Amino acid sequence: MTDCLFCKIIRHEIPASIVYEDDRILAFNDINPQAPTHVLVVPKRHIATLNELSPEDDQIVGELVRRAAAIAKERGISAGGFRTLFNTNREAGQTVFHIHLHLLGGRTMHWPPG
Ligand code: 5GP
Ligand code: ZN
Repeated sequence: MTDCLFCKIIRHEIPASIVYEDDRILAFNDINPQAPTHVLVVPKRHIATLNELSPEDDQIVGELVRRAAAIAKERGISAGGFRTLFNTNREAGQTVFHIHLHLLGGRTMHWPPG
């Protein structure tokens, strides 16, 4: 999508600190990290929110989750623990309307989230 921030990052029109890339997925460091590891894992295909997912997206969602776990393993935070989450729409605090899996780790997480 032309004016989507994350689509621009995917097209390399806006710089980002890229952690992983293949033909379907991009992972990059969050610009405002909330933990020592804060990576966003996104599908290259524009999907605005989880509400727009269709059964054909099951594969890509699985890939996002497995990629987040792989990055956590690379960073040495798998055993200690990490958090993965999608924010959906206003009440959850979604600010960029291109789905992104947050991978947070490297510190103790608290529950419930704010
Ligand atoms: P949301 O609030 O939609 O779940 O998460 C959006 C995330 O994108 C936020 O954590 C925010 O810091 C991050 N973000 C916003 N703009 C940029 C940007 O230009 N570059 C990068 N790397 N992250 C961004
Ligand atoms: Zn997009």
